[in-house]
Amino acid sequence: MLVDSHCHLDSPDFDADRAAVLERARAAGVGLMLNPGADLATSRRAVELADGHPEIYAAVGVSPHEAEDLPKSWLDQLRALAESSDKVVAIGEIGLDLFRSKVPQKAQEEVFIAQIGLAWELDLPIIVHCRQADDRVLELLQEHSSEGRLRAVMHCFSGDEKLVRGSLALGFYISFAGSLTYPKARPTRRAAELAPDDRILVETDAPYLPPQSVRGKRCEPAMIAETVEKLSAARGATRRDIERITERNFHLAFGLPIIKREQLLYPIGETLYVNLTNRCPNSCGFCPRQHGRFVHSGHDLQLGREAEPAAYVQAMAGFEDFRELVFCGFGEPTARLEALKEIARAAKARGMAVRLDTNGLGSVLNARNIVPELRGLVDEAWVSLNAPDARVYQRLTRSEFGESAYGSVVEFARKAQAAGIKVTVTAVNCPGIDIQACLKAAKRLGLEFRSRKYKKLG
Ligand SMILES: [Zn+2]
Repeated sequence: MLVDSHCHLDSPDFDADRAAVLERARAAGVGLMLNPGADLATSRRAVELADGHPEIYAAVGVSPHEAEDLPKSWLDQLRALAESSDKVVAIGEIGLDLFRSKVPQKAQEEVFIAQIGLAWELDLPIIVHCRQADDRVLELLQEHSSEGRLRAVMHCFSGDEKLVRGSLALGFYISFAGSLTYPKARPTRRAAELAPDDRILVETDAPYLPPQSVRGKRCEPAMIAETVEKLSAARGATRRDIERITERNFHLAFGLPIIKREQLLYPIGETLYVNLTNRCPNSCGFCPRQHGRFVHSGHDLQLGREAEPAAYVQAMAGFEDFRELVFCGFGEPTARLEALKEIARAAKARGMAVRLDTNGLGSVLNARNIVPELRGLVDEAWVSLNAPDARVYQRLTRSEFGESAYGSVVEFARKAQAAGIKVTVTAVNCPGIDIQACLKAAKRLGLEFRSRKYKKLG
C-alpha cells in the first residue's frame, strides 16, 4: 500500500474536485493519508476531513508562516481541536522557515516551542517543517527532545547531512516529498541513502511540490508513486519494499496499531525468503533476535507456532515471478531439516534456485552429516563464520555446543563444497567482528568469503 504521510487535502485548491482527487488516490493504491494543519482554520478542516474519511488522519498545528497575530487563546484552541477526535495523530506542521518568511524568527521560535510543549502534554509526535533553518531547528529539537523521547517526523526533508544525522540520532522519521525527484536535490538524495529502513516515510505535500514529471501542475496524492520510485532507486530497493516499509513506519510514527501477520515467506528486492523458525543454538550478541527485535525490512519475522511445510509450499503460489528462494530468518533453518527439504524440493520443481543461509551447525543439530540430504535441493550455502578460530567464535556466538561448534561449522562448509554446493562463508560487518581475520581464515580453508552488512539479512 502507498501511504502519503503529508498532504493538504483541505487546501482550497481541491475545493472543486476533492472527491475526484480522493478517488484517484484510491485508484493509484494510496491507502492512507495524513492531512496536517498550518493554522487554526486549516487544522479544523483537517480534522473534519479525517472524521469524514477512514483513510485520512489529521495533525493540528500552526506553521511558521502563520506564527504571527495569533489570537490569545490559540494554543487552547489547538489543544481542544487535538482532543476533539481520535483521528488527530500529531501536532504539525510546525517549525522554522527562514526562506523569505515575513514572520520574525523570534515569533516563529516561540510558536514552535509552545507546540512542542503541547505535543509533550498530549503525548503526540510532531511534524516538523524546516526551511533554511537546519542548524537552529536541530538545536531547538535537541534542547526539547527530553533525552531522545520526543517523537518527530522531519517533513519534506531537504536538509544537509548534519540535519540527517542529527535527526536520526534523535530517533526521528525522515519524510521524502516530490522534491526528491528534482535534478538539484542532491542533499535530499543523500539523506535517502543514509536513513535506515525503520526511519523513512514518503509524502506529496500536495497541492505543492509535484514530482519532476508533472512539475508546474497541482500536486495530489495519486502522484506519490514517482517519489516512491526515486526513493527505491536511491536505496537499491524495489517499490514493493518501500511501500511495505513506509506503511509500517507510518503506523509506528503516528502510534497506530499494526496488525500482525504471520510471515512464512517474505520478499525483499527480487528474492523470496523463507522464515522457517526462530530457534537457534547460538546466541550471538549482535543478533537483533537476542534483543527481542524480529522486524527486518518492514517484515515482522517473529513466528507463533511453526507452520507445516505444506503451508509454505502453498504460500509460494503468491510469488510466481520470483526465481530465487533463500532460507533465512531470525533462526537456524536446519533446525527444521525435514521441512527445509520439502520446501526446497517444491522450489526446485518450480525451477527456482535455492540458497541456504545457515550457521553451519545443521549436522550437529540433527546428529548426522546432513550434507548428502541437501544435494540437489540446495544450490548455494552461505555459512556464518564470524570468527577466525574456535575461541573467538564461542565468545561471539555463545553456542550451546561450546568450543567444538567452530570445528563443526568448518567441517560442514567443507563437506558442502565437496558435494558441489556453492559455499560462501560470511562475517557480519559490525563492531567486535574482525573482518580481515575472517577473510584470512576463509582463504586458509579454501572457501569463498563475503562480509555482510550489519542489520541486513540476505
Ligand atoms: Zn505541508
